Amino acid sequence: MSFYQQETFVLMTLDPVHIGTGGMRLGRVDNSIVREPGVRLPKIPGTSLSGAIRQYAAYRYESLRCAGAGQENKEKKQEGHCRDAKCPVCYTFGYLKGQEGGQSGTVNIGDARILLFPVHSLTGPVWVTSPGILREFGVTGDDPGEQVRLPQSLGRHSHLNLGWLMLEAGQAFDWPDAIQVAPAEIRERAVLISDKLFSQVVNSNLEVRTSVSIDPDTGAASEGKLFTYEAIPRATLLWMDVVEDEFRRDPQNPGNSPWPVSQAKSGKPFPNGETWTSPLSVIKAGLGLAEYLGIGGMGTRGFGRVRWLSEEASQ
Ligand SMILES: [Zn+2]
Repeated sequence: MSFYQQETFVLMTLDPVHIGTGGMRLGRVDNSIVREPGVRLPKIPGTSLSGAIRQYAAYRYESLRCAGAGQENKEKKQEGHCRDAKCPVCYTFGYLKGQEGGQSGTVNIGDARILLFPVHSLTGPVWVTSPGILREFGVTGDDPGEQVRLPQSLGRHSHLNLGWLMLEAGQAFDWPDAIQVAPAEIRERAVLISDKLFSQVVNSNLEVRTSVSIDPDTGAASEGKLFTYEAIPRATLLWMDVVEDEFRRDPQNPGNSPWPVSQAKSGKPFPNGETWTSPLSVIKAGLGLAEYLGIGGMGTRGFGRVRWLSEEASQ
């Protein structure tokens, strides 16, 4: 039995998702989103995902103090993490322990990176992907160069526009069977472009919105305070790896997990009669709520809901 277990999660945005860089930027938008250095592709950082998933897992476990960074603040009557060895949230994500340090968690949540990105075309919406992305899933294929490769289900076209960019259609492309988790209606409209064009197409088709600042004193729009912000658009598919690292497992007896939680032991209610049998199941429980509660900024403006597409849901 291995100490490590890795699972790949595929997510679909139900709203635009804005994970801001925190800084203002000169140029096209005021509030830009986090990108991967080098390729400049937008992503949802693992730290943001981890924070949201922890919070929602704490909601489900009905232990709100175990959400967040866990700082104690007596003036604000803020309790720190519960630090109970039997708490599934603290065991999974780790906890702070005042002066004495803390305990690290048993999962590592990677960044969520784009798998399929929606773009408008004359034949309706299509989802772009690239050979570099498919390679991450063990699928290899030729670089389509300056062409776009279309699935047969889109019919025959000599050219296809992706937003403002017109490309010549190359050989047919069919979404690899190995990656079934994408919904069929998206797989049938998946097109392949080169890695270089992919970054260009994504960055010129992000959601950019304009909003007004609200004056906190009057509750009215502040004059002259328009600002723009960008977001990963609705119906983008992203993927992330989650590694469960049960490093506390006894090497002499690896089948005997130190996972401390069972319904009987903890005495805490689990919603819907579910049982959390491992740190990964805590991740799944928290992630399930992101579909309703969202991640990232601008939640009050209808941003951030993300659906976890399980293997079952795709069949
Ligand atoms: Zn706890």
